[in-house]
Amino acid sequence: MYFISTRGAAPRASFSDVLLAGLAPDGGLYLPESWPQISPTEIAAFKGAGYRDVAFAILSRFTAGSFSDAELKEAIAAAYAGFDAPEIAPLVEIGEGRFLLELFHGPTLAFKDVALQVLGQLFSRALARRGGRATVLAATSGDTGSAAIAALGGLANLDVFVMHPKGRVSDVQRLQMTTSAHANVHNIALEGSFDDAQSIVKALFADTEFAAKVGLTAVNSINFARIAAQCVYYFTASAQLGKAATFVVPTGNFGDIFAGEAAMRMGLVADRLVIATNANDIMARALNDGVYASGQSHATLSPSMDIQVASNFERALFEASGRDANWTAAAMKDFVRNRRLELPPGVLENLRARYSAFASTDAETRAAIAAVHKQTGRIIDPHTAVGMAAALKMGRPASPVVVLSTAHPAKFPDAVSQAIGVPPPEPVALSGLRKLPERARTLANDPSLIKNFIFSRLAA
Ligand SMILES: *Cc1c(COP(=O)(O)O)cnc(C)c1O
Repeated sequence: MYFISTRGAAPRASFSDVLLAGLAPDGGLYLPESWPQISPTEIAAFKGAGYRDVAFAILSRFTAGSFSDAELKEAIAAAYAGFDAPEIAPLVEIGEGRFLLELFHGPTLAFKDVALQVLGQLFSRALARRGGRATVLAATSGDTGSAAIAALGGLANLDVFVMHPKGRVSDVQRLQMTTSAHANVHNIALEGSFDDAQSIVKALFADTEFAAKVGLTAVNSINFARIAAQCVYYFTASAQLGKAATFVVPTGNFGDIFAGEAAMRMGLVADRLVIATNANDIMARALNDGVYASGQSHATLSPSMDIQVASNFERALFEASGRDANWTAAAMKDFVRNRRLELPPGVLENLRARYSAFASTDAETRAAIAAVHKQTGRIIDPHTAVGMAAALKMGRPASPVVVLSTAHPAKFPDAVSQAIGVPPPEPVALSGLRKLPERARTLANDPSLIKNFIFSRLAA
Protein backbone atom coordinates (compact mmCIF):
# COMPACT_ATOMS: atom_id res chain seq x y z
CA MET A 1 0.00 0.00 0.00
CA TYR A 2 1.29 3.42 -0.99
CA PHE A 3 0.16 6.91 -0.05
CA ILE A 4 -0.10 10.11 -2.10
CA SER A 5 -0.36 13.77 -1.12
CA THR A 6 -3.54 15.83 -1.55
CA ARG A 7 -1.36 18.45 -3.26
CA GLY A 8 0.13 16.06 -5.80
CA ALA A 9 3.75 17.21 -5.59
CA ALA A 10 5.23 14.65 -3.18
CA PRO A 11 6.65 11.24 -4.05
CA ARG A 12 4.40 8.33 -3.05
CA ALA A 13 5.23 7.02 0.39
CA SER A 14 4.94 3.83 2.44
CA PHE A 15 2.84 3.61 5.61
CA SER A 16 6.01 3.89 7.76
CA ASP A 17 7.07 7.05 5.93
CA VAL A 18 3.61 8.55 6.38
CA LEU A 19 3.57 7.59 10.05
CA LEU A 20 6.94 9.20 10.81
CA ALA A 21 6.49 12.28 8.59
CA GLY A 22 2.88 13.31 9.34
CA LEU A 23 2.67 16.10 6.77
CA ALA A 24 3.72 15.43 3.16
CA PRO A 25 6.79 17.40 1.92
CA ASP A 26 4.60 19.49 -0.46
CA GLY A 27 2.51 20.68 2.52
CA GLY A 28 -0.37 18.34 1.65
CA LEU A 29 -1.93 15.49 3.61
CA TYR A 30 -1.39 11.83 2.82
CA LEU A 31 -4.17 9.54 1.61
CA PRO A 32 -4.02 5.99 0.26
CA GLU A 33 -3.29 5.84 -3.47
CA SER A 34 -6.59 3.95 -3.71
CA TRP A 35 -8.99 3.03 -0.91
CA PRO A 36 -8.77 -0.61 0.18
CA GLN A 37 -12.14 -2.37 -0.22
CA ILE A 38 -13.79 -4.37 2.56
CA SER A 39 -16.51 -6.66 1.21
CA PRO A 40 -20.09 -6.63 2.58
CA THR A 41 -19.59 -10.23 3.78
CA GLU A 42 -16.50 -9.28 5.74
CA ILE A 43 -18.24 -6.22 7.21
CA ALA A 44 -21.23 -8.32 8.29
CA ALA A 45 -18.84 -10.77 9.98
CA PHE A 46 -17.48 -7.93 12.14
CA LYS A 47 -20.68 -8.29 14.20
CA GLY A 48 -19.35 -11.22 16.14
CA ALA A 49 -15.70 -10.14 16.17
CA GLY A 50 -13.81 -8.38 18.96
CA TYR A 51 -12.66 -4.77 18.52
CA ARG A 52 -8.99 -5.81 18.21
CA ASP A 53 -9.80 -8.24 15.39
CA VAL A 54 -11.73 -5.59 13.46
CA ALA A 55 -8.88 -3.14 14.07
CA PHE A 56 -6.46 -5.67 12.64
CA ALA A 57 -8.68 -6.35 9.60
CA ILE A 58 -8.90 -2.61 8.80
CA LEU A 59 -5.40 -1.44 9.75
CA SER A 60 -3.61 -4.32 8.00
CA ARG A 61 -4.96 -2.99 4.67
CA PHE A 62 -2.99 0.22 5.27
CA THR A 63 0.12 -1.12 7.01
CA ALA A 64 0.80 -3.85 4.40
CA GLY A 65 4.44 -3.64 3.33
CA SER A 66 5.47 -1.68 6.44
CA PHE A 67 4.51 -3.97 9.34
CA SER A 68 4.10 -7.74 9.48
CA ASP A 69 0.80 -9.21 10.68
CA ALA A 70 2.49 -10.27 13.92
CA GLU A 71 3.87 -6.76 14.56
CA LEU A 72 0.49 -5.14 13.91
CA LYS A 73 -1.34 -7.61 16.18
CA GLU A 74 1.18 -6.95 18.95
CA ALA A 75 0.84 -3.18 18.53
CA ILE A 76 -2.98 -3.34 18.66
CA ALA A 77 -2.92 -5.58 21.75
CA ALA A 78 -0.55 -3.19 23.54
CA ALA A 79 -2.55 -0.13 22.47
CA TYR A 80 -5.82 -1.34 23.94
CA ALA A 81 -4.48 -3.18 27.01
CA GLY A 82 -5.15 -0.13 29.21
CA PHE A 83 -8.78 0.46 28.18
CA ASP A 84 -11.40 0.01 30.90
CA ALA A 85 -14.17 -1.41 28.66
CA PRO A 86 -13.80 -4.86 27.08
CA GLU A 87 -15.64 -3.60 23.95
CA ILE A 88 -13.08 -0.70 23.68
CA ALA A 89 -15.80 1.44 22.00
CA PRO A 90 -19.16 0.36 23.50
CA LEU A 91 -22.38 1.29 21.67
CA VAL A 92 -25.11 2.28 24.13
CA GLU A 93 -28.79 2.75 23.22
CA ILE A 94 -30.38 5.80 24.83
CA GLY A 95 -33.89 5.56 23.34
CA GLU A 96 -35.85 6.85 20.32
CA GLY A 97 -33.40 5.23 17.88
CA ARG A 98 -30.42 7.15 19.27
CA PHE A 99 -27.13 5.64 20.42
CA LEU A 100 -23.91 6.83 22.05
CA LEU A 101 -20.65 5.39 20.75
CA GLU A 102 -18.42 5.70 23.82
CA LEU A 103 -14.86 6.53 22.79
CA PHE A 104 -13.57 7.63 26.21
CA HIS A 105 -12.51 4.35 27.80
CA GLY A 106 -8.77 4.92 27.29
CA PRO A 107 -6.22 6.17 29.83
CA THR A 108 -6.99 9.90 29.50
CA LEU A 109 -10.77 9.47 29.18
CA ALA A 110 -11.06 11.13 25.76
CA PHE A 111 -11.36 9.78 22.23
CA LYS A 112 -7.85 10.81 21.16
CA ASP A 113 -6.56 7.78 23.10
CA VAL A 114 -8.22 5.38 20.63
CA ALA A 115 -5.91 6.43 17.79
CA LEU A 116 -2.88 7.82 19.63
CA GLN A 117 -2.36 4.57 21.54
CA VAL A 118 -2.03 2.71 18.23
CA LEU A 119 0.07 5.44 16.69
CA GLY A 120 2.51 5.37 19.65
CA GLN A 121 3.00 1.61 19.37
CA LEU A 122 3.59 1.75 15.61
CA PHE A 123 5.78 4.85 15.90
CA SER A 124 8.15 3.21 18.34
CA ARG A 125 8.44 0.10 16.14
CA ALA A 126 9.04 2.15 12.98
CA LEU A 127 11.77 4.14 14.76
CA ALA A 128 13.46 0.96 15.97
CA ARG A 129 13.64 -0.25 12.39
CA ARG A 130 14.90 3.07 10.99
CA GLY A 131 17.48 3.38 13.77
CA GLY A 132 18.16 6.40 15.94
CA ARG A 133 15.85 8.28 18.29
CA ALA A 134 13.15 10.89 17.85
CA THR A 135 12.04 13.85 19.91
CA VAL A 136 8.30 14.44 19.85
CA LEU A 137 7.36 18.03 20.65
CA ALA A 138 3.79 19.18 21.21
CA ALA A 139 1.96 22.25 22.46
CA THR A 140 -1.35 21.53 24.16
CA SER A 141 -4.37 23.36 25.49
CA GLY A 142 -5.15 20.23 27.50
CA ASP A 143 -6.45 17.02 25.89
CA THR A 144 -3.90 16.31 23.17
CA GLY A 145 -0.90 16.59 25.52
CA SER A 146 -2.25 14.11 28.01
CA ALA A 147 -3.23 11.64 25.27
CA ALA A 148 0.24 11.94 23.68
CA ILE A 149 1.95 11.37 27.05
CA ALA A 150 -0.26 8.36 27.80
CA ALA A 151 0.51 6.94 24.35
CA LEU A 152 4.26 7.61 24.21
CA GLY A 153 5.39 7.45 27.86
CA GLY A 154 7.75 4.54 28.44
CA LEU A 155 8.19 3.68 24.75
CA ALA A 156 11.66 2.95 23.42
CA ASN A 157 13.52 5.18 20.95
CA LEU A 158 11.75 8.46 21.69
CA ASP A 159 11.35 11.34 24.11
CA VAL A 160 8.20 13.40 24.39
CA PHE A 161 8.16 17.08 25.38
CA VAL A 162 4.75 18.63 26.03
CA MET A 163 4.30 22.33 26.63
CA HIS A 164 1.12 23.56 28.33
CA PRO A 165 0.25 27.16 29.23
CA LYS A 166 0.95 27.38 32.97
CA GLY A 167 -2.22 27.83 35.03
CA ARG A 168 -4.46 27.76 31.96
CA VAL A 169 -5.34 24.06 31.78
CA SER A 170 -7.82 22.37 34.11
CA ASP A 171 -6.61 20.49 37.22
CA VAL A 172 -7.50 17.15 35.70
CA GLN A 173 -5.75 17.97 32.43
CA ARG A 174 -2.58 19.11 34.24
CA LEU A 175 -2.49 16.08 36.52
CA GLN A 176 -2.93 13.69 33.58
CA MET A 177 0.26 15.15 32.09
CA THR A 178 2.48 15.92 35.07
CA THR A 179 1.98 12.71 37.05
CA SER A 180 3.49 10.50 34.34
CA ALA A 181 6.38 8.62 35.94
CA HIS A 182 8.08 7.73 32.66
CA ALA A 183 11.63 8.99 32.20
CA ASN A 184 11.04 9.87 28.53
CA VAL A 185 8.18 12.28 29.38
CA HIS A 186 9.11 15.93 29.89
CA ASN A 187 6.48 18.50 30.83
CA ILE A 188 7.00 22.20 30.34
CA ALA A 189 4.70 24.67 32.12
CA LEU A 190 5.13 27.67 29.87
CA GLU A 191 4.72 31.16 31.29
CA GLY A 192 2.49 32.22 28.41
CA SER A 193 -0.64 31.32 26.45
CA PHE A 194 -1.43 28.29 24.28
CA ASP A 195 -0.70 30.46 21.21
CA ASP A 196 2.75 31.28 22.68
CA ALA A 197 3.39 27.56 23.14
CA GLN A 198 2.34 26.87 19.57
CA SER A 199 4.59 29.67 18.27
CA ILE A 200 7.56 28.11 20.07
CA VAL A 201 6.81 24.72 18.51
CA LYS A 202 6.71 26.35 15.08
CA ALA A 203 9.97 28.23 15.75
CA LEU A 204 11.78 25.06 16.85
CA PHE A 205 10.56 23.10 13.83
CA ALA A 206 11.71 25.98 11.60
CA ASP A 207 15.17 25.84 13.24
CA THR A 208 16.32 23.09 10.87
CA GLU A 209 19.72 22.60 12.52
CA PHE A 210 18.14 22.04 15.92
CA ALA A 211 15.33 19.93 14.45
CA ALA A 212 17.80 17.62 12.69
CA LYS A 213 20.09 17.37 15.73
CA VAL A 214 17.34 16.11 18.07
CA GLY A 215 15.23 14.29 15.43
CA LEU A 216 12.27 16.58 16.03
CA THR A 217 8.89 15.15 15.09
CA ALA A 218 5.17 15.57 15.80
CA VAL A 219 2.19 13.26 16.27
CA ASN A 220 -0.33 15.68 14.74
CA SER A 221 -4.00 15.05 14.18
CA ILE A 222 -3.27 15.20 10.45
CA ASN A 223 -1.23 11.97 10.67
CA PHE A 224 -2.99 9.41 8.47
CA ALA A 225 -2.32 6.64 11.02
CA ARG A 226 -4.76 8.39 13.34
CA ILE A 227 -7.47 8.44 10.67
CA ALA A 228 -6.86 4.75 9.94
CA ALA A 229 -7.29 3.82 13.61
CA GLN A 230 -10.45 5.94 13.87
CA CYS A 231 -12.18 4.16 10.94
CA VAL A 232 -12.45 1.05 13.06
CA TYR A 233 -15.27 2.13 15.38
CA TYR A 234 -17.50 3.17 12.47
CA PHE A 235 -17.29 -0.45 11.32
CA THR A 236 -17.85 -2.01 14.76
CA ALA A 237 -20.85 0.24 15.48
CA SER A 238 -22.44 -0.40 12.06
CA ALA A 239 -21.91 -4.16 12.31
CA GLN A 240 -23.55 -4.18 15.71
CA LEU A 241 -26.60 -2.26 14.44
CA GLY A 242 -26.79 -4.42 11.33
CA LYS A 243 -28.11 -1.51 9.27
CA ALA A 244 -27.08 1.83 7.83
CA ALA A 245 -26.76 4.54 10.49
CA THR A 246 -26.36 8.28 10.63
CA PHE A 247 -23.21 9.24 12.53
CA VAL A 248 -23.14 12.56 14.40
CA VAL A 249 -19.60 13.68 15.14
CA PRO A 250 -18.49 16.49 17.50
CA THR A 251 -16.02 18.17 15.18
CA GLY A 252 -12.92 20.31 15.57
CA ASN A 253 -10.07 19.51 13.23
CA PHE A 254 -12.28 17.23 11.06
CA GLY A 255 -10.15 14.13 11.75
CA ASP A 256 -12.75 12.02 13.51
CA ILE A 257 -15.53 12.66 10.97
CA PHE A 258 -13.19 12.21 8.00
CA ALA A 259 -12.49 8.72 9.37
CA GLY A 260 -16.21 8.12 8.76
CA GLU A 261 -15.80 9.15 5.12
CA ALA A 262 -12.75 6.88 4.88
CA ALA A 263 -14.82 3.96 6.24
CA MET A 264 -17.54 4.67 3.65
CA ARG A 265 -14.99 4.80 0.85
CA MET A 266 -13.78 1.37 2.02
CA GLY A 267 -17.26 -0.10 1.69
CA LEU A 268 -19.15 0.83 4.88
CA VAL A 269 -22.80 1.65 4.18
CA ALA A 270 -23.95 4.66 6.23
CA ASP A 271 -26.80 7.13 5.74
CA ARG A 272 -25.04 10.40 6.54
CA LEU A 273 -22.19 11.97 8.45
CA VAL A 274 -23.34 14.91 10.54
CA ILE A 275 -20.81 17.58 11.49
CA ALA A 276 -21.60 18.98 14.93
CA THR A 277 -19.77 22.17 15.91
CA ASN A 278 -19.92 24.64 18.77
CA ALA A 279 -19.87 28.44 18.19
CA ASN A 280 -16.61 27.91 16.28
CA ASP A 281 -18.73 26.96 13.31
CA ILE A 282 -16.32 27.15 10.35
CA MET A 283 -17.36 23.68 9.18
CA ALA A 284 -21.09 24.30 9.57
CA ARG A 285 -20.78 27.52 7.54
CA ALA A 286 -18.70 25.75 4.88
CA LEU A 287 -21.38 23.10 4.35
CA ASN A 288 -24.40 25.36 4.69
CA ASP A 289 -23.18 28.54 2.96
CA GLY A 290 -20.52 27.08 0.64
CA VAL A 291 -17.79 29.34 2.00
CA TYR A 292 -14.93 27.91 4.09
CA ALA A 293 -13.76 30.94 6.07
CA SER A 294 -11.95 31.41 9.40
CA GLY A 295 -13.85 33.60 11.84
CA GLN A 296 -13.32 34.98 15.35
CA SER A 297 -12.21 32.35 17.86
CA HIS A 298 -14.71 31.79 20.71
CA ALA A 299 -14.00 30.09 24.06
CA THR A 300 -16.81 27.57 24.62
CA LEU A 301 -17.86 24.79 27.01
CA SER A 302 -16.31 22.29 24.54
CA PRO A 303 -12.72 23.61 24.36
CA SER A 304 -11.29 20.70 22.34
CA MET A 305 -13.42 21.91 19.42
CA ASP A 306 -12.49 25.60 19.66
CA ILE A 307 -10.71 25.84 16.31
CA GLN A 308 -10.85 28.18 13.34
CA VAL A 309 -9.12 25.95 10.78
CA ALA A 310 -10.19 22.32 10.26
CA SER A 311 -6.92 20.88 8.90
CA ASN A 312 -8.31 17.50 7.86
CA PHE A 313 -10.99 19.15 5.70
CA GLU A 314 -8.31 19.28 2.99
CA ARG A 315 -8.69 15.51 2.67
CA ALA A 316 -12.46 15.77 2.11
CA LEU A 317 -11.94 18.56 -0.43
CA PHE A 318 -9.45 16.44 -2.34
CA GLU A 319 -11.95 13.56 -2.49
CA ALA A 320 -14.94 15.80 -3.29
CA SER A 321 -13.03 17.36 -6.20
CA GLY A 322 -12.55 13.91 -7.72
CA ARG A 323 -9.01 13.74 -6.32
CA ASP A 324 -7.95 16.86 -8.21
CA ALA A 325 -4.57 17.62 -6.57
CA ASN A 326 -3.95 20.75 -8.65
CA TRP A 327 -7.25 22.28 -7.59
CA THR A 328 -6.73 21.22 -3.95
CA ALA A 329 -3.23 22.75 -3.81
CA ALA A 330 -4.45 26.02 -5.33
CA ALA A 331 -7.52 26.13 -3.07
CA MET A 332 -5.45 25.62 0.09
CA LYS A 333 -2.98 28.32 -0.96
CA ASP A 334 -5.95 30.63 -1.55
CA PHE A 335 -7.31 29.83 1.88
CA VAL A 336 -3.98 30.54 3.60
CA ARG A 337 -3.74 33.89 1.77
CA ASN A 338 -7.35 35.06 2.26
CA ARG A 339 -8.55 32.97 5.25
CA ARG A 340 -11.50 32.25 2.95
CA LEU A 341 -12.35 29.79 0.20
CA GLU A 342 -15.48 29.68 -1.92
CA LEU A 343 -16.37 26.06 -2.65
CA PRO A 344 -17.12 25.36 -6.34
CA PRO A 345 -20.71 24.06 -6.91
CA GLY A 346 -19.53 20.57 -7.92
CA VAL A 347 -17.36 20.16 -4.83
CA LEU A 348 -20.10 21.46 -2.54
CA GLU A 349 -22.66 19.12 -4.08
CA ASN A 350 -20.33 16.15 -3.50
CA LEU A 351 -19.77 17.15 0.12
CA ARG A 352 -23.49 17.64 0.75
CA ALA A 353 -24.27 14.17 -0.64
CA ARG A 354 -22.43 12.76 2.39
CA TYR A 355 -22.31 15.46 5.08
CA SER A 356 -24.80 17.68 6.92
CA ALA A 357 -23.80 20.22 9.57
CA PHE A 358 -25.28 21.88 12.66
CA ALA A 359 -23.70 24.45 14.99
CA SER A 360 -24.84 24.77 18.61
CA THR A 361 -24.44 27.42 21.28
CA ASP A 362 -23.26 26.84 24.87
CA ALA A 363 -26.91 27.20 25.97
CA GLU A 364 -27.94 24.41 23.58
CA THR A 365 -24.99 22.32 24.81
CA ARG A 366 -26.14 22.69 28.43
CA ALA A 367 -29.73 21.90 27.38
CA ALA A 368 -28.57 18.70 25.65
CA ILE A 369 -26.68 17.56 28.78
CA ALA A 370 -29.79 18.25 30.86
CA ALA A 371 -32.16 16.53 28.40
CA VAL A 372 -30.10 13.32 28.20
CA HIS A 373 -29.72 13.30 31.98
CA LYS A 374 -33.46 13.74 32.51
CA GLN A 375 -34.46 11.06 30.00
CA THR A 376 -31.81 8.44 30.73
CA GLY A 377 -29.97 9.33 33.95
CA ARG A 378 -26.72 9.40 31.94
CA ILE A 379 -24.31 12.30 32.17
CA ILE A 380 -22.64 13.28 28.89
CA ASP A 381 -19.68 15.62 28.49
CA PRO A 382 -20.01 19.00 26.70
CA HIS A 383 -18.34 17.76 23.47
CA THR A 384 -20.72 14.81 23.24
CA ALA A 385 -23.51 17.27 24.06
CA VAL A 386 -22.68 19.36 20.99
CA GLY A 387 -23.25 16.16 19.01
CA MET A 388 -26.47 15.43 20.88
CA ALA A 389 -27.71 19.00 20.27
CA ALA A 390 -27.17 18.43 16.53
CA ALA A 391 -28.99 15.07 16.74
CA LEU A 392 -31.97 16.76 18.43
CA LYS A 393 -32.09 19.39 15.66
CA MET A 394 -32.40 16.58 13.10
CA GLY A 395 -35.70 15.49 14.63
CA ARG A 396 -36.90 11.92 15.11
CA PRO A 397 -34.62 9.74 12.98
CA ALA A 398 -35.65 7.28 10.26
CA SER A 399 -32.42 5.29 10.67
CA PRO A 400 -30.37 4.71 13.84
CA VAL A 401 -28.50 7.84 14.92
CA VAL A 402 -25.10 7.24 16.50
CA VAL A 403 -23.60 10.19 18.38
CA LEU A 404 -19.86 9.80 18.92
CA SER A 405 -19.21 10.36 22.63
CA THR A 406 -15.74 11.85 22.68
CA ALA A 407 -14.95 12.50 26.34
CA HIS A 408 -15.84 11.29 29.83
CA PRO A 409 -17.98 13.87 31.67
CA ALA A 410 -15.60 13.91 34.66
CA LYS A 411 -13.06 15.77 32.50
CA PHE A 412 -15.45 18.74 32.32
CA PRO A 413 -17.13 19.02 35.73
CA ASP A 414 -17.88 22.77 35.45
CA ALA A 415 -19.88 22.46 32.25
CA VAL A 416 -21.79 19.49 33.68
CA SER A 417 -22.56 21.42 36.90
CA GLN A 418 -23.89 24.33 34.87
CA ALA A 419 -26.26 21.96 33.06
CA ILE A 420 -27.57 19.70 35.82
CA GLY A 421 -26.59 21.47 39.04
CA VAL A 422 -24.09 18.84 40.23
CA PRO A 423 -20.68 17.72 38.95
CA PRO A 424 -20.31 14.15 37.61
CA PRO A 425 -18.85 11.56 39.99
CA GLU A 426 -15.07 11.42 39.66
CA PRO A 427 -13.73 8.01 38.54
CA VAL A 428 -10.95 6.49 40.65
CA ALA A 429 -8.61 6.85 37.67
CA LEU A 430 -8.82 10.62 38.18
CA SER A 431 -9.00 10.93 41.97
CA GLY A 432 -5.94 8.66 42.20
CA LEU A 433 -3.92 11.22 40.26
CA ARG A 434 -4.26 13.78 43.06
CA LYS A 435 -2.07 11.59 45.29
CA LEU A 436 0.81 11.33 42.81
CA PRO A 437 3.87 13.58 42.61
CA GLU A 438 3.85 16.07 39.72
CA ARG A 439 6.79 16.78 37.40
CA ALA A 440 6.94 19.88 35.21
CA ARG A 441 9.59 22.51 34.54
CA THR A 442 8.31 26.07 34.56
CA LEU A 443 9.98 28.06 31.79
CA ALA A 444 9.63 31.59 30.47
CA ASN A 445 8.16 32.25 27.04
CA ASP A 446 11.44 32.10 25.11
CA PRO A 447 12.31 29.50 22.45
CA SER A 448 16.01 29.43 23.41
CA LEU A 449 15.13 28.36 26.97
CA ILE A 450 12.97 25.53 25.62
CA LYS A 451 15.80 24.45 23.32
CA ASN A 452 18.28 24.37 26.20
CA PHE A 453 15.84 22.38 28.33
CA ILE A 454 15.40 19.82 25.53
CA PHE A 455 19.20 19.49 25.07
CA SER A 456 19.78 19.10 28.81
CA ARG A 457 17.09 16.41 29.14
CA LEU A 458 18.33 14.45 26.12
CA ALA A 459 21.88 14.50 27.54
CA ALA A 460 20.71 13.31 30.97
C1 LIG B 1 -10.18 16.49 19.62
C2 LIG B 1 -11.57 16.35 20.16
C3 LIG B 1 -12.72 16.51 19.33
C4 LIG B 1 -12.62 16.91 17.87
O1 LIG B 1 -12.11 15.91 17.04
P1 LIG B 1 -11.49 16.27 15.60
O2 LIG B 1 -10.93 15.02 15.08
O3 LIG B 1 -10.45 17.34 15.85
O4 LIG B 1 -12.63 16.81 14.78
C5 LIG B 1 -13.97 16.31 19.90
N1 LIG B 1 -14.11 16.01 21.21
C6 LIG B 1 -13.05 15.86 22.04
C7 LIG B 1 -13.28 15.54 23.47
C8 LIG B 1 -11.75 16.02 21.54
O5 LIG B 1 -10.69 15.88 22.38
